[in-house]
Amino acid sequence: MDPRAYGRYPSSSSISRPVVTKCNLLDKVISGRSEVSQFCKCGNCCMQGTVRESFCCLETGDSLSPYAANVSKVIAEHRCICDVPRIRAIVLGSEDLELFHQHSVYLKQLGGLPVCNKVSPSDPQRYLRFAAYSKLTLHFHGTLGMSNRIELPSCLVKFIRQQYPSKSGDYTGFRDAFYDE
Ligand SMILES: [Zn+2]
Ligand SMILES: [Zn+2]
Repeated sequence: MDPRAYGRYPSSSSISRPVVTKCNLLDKVISGRSEVSQFCKCGNCCMQGTVRESFCCLETGDSLSPYAANVSKVIAEHRCICDVPRIRAIVLGSEDLELFHQHSVYLKQLGGLPVCNKVSPSDPQRYLRFAAYSKLTLHFHGTLGMSNRIELPSCLVKFIRQQYPSKSGDYTGFRDAFYDE
């Protein structure tokens, strides 16, 4: 089995990758952003470590990308994606995220893929952030093809990190081939 088929699940890969500024969700290159006021209309975004994640949930309403339309549809009349009750429920539902993680591990084992289940003392909730990213992506877009990774808006990434922070404050940022963070 091709390991990329399970790319949405946590990966121990630490291969360095070139900086990508093309945002798959908005289907455009993001550049020239140095302050949150340049792009945020929802009031909840922050500058992210990776350029392609520095975009606002409300920008999805201006995009013609089908992935952006998926997110925009969920936002509907809300002022921010983080205000949508079922999105909040996914992020805040740590017991469901734990179960989602265990199921992901099970699927990897079933597929004969290496499973890294080590919990870093400096970042014990990392797997819960992964699970939240994966579950939200599934919620918005359904199952994606191999190596097809879609970013989450800055405000939503921030919301997830607030719930399940890294003790060190270090976050790797979005990666292309693996749904890392
Ligand atoms: Zn925003
Ligand atoms: Zn927002």
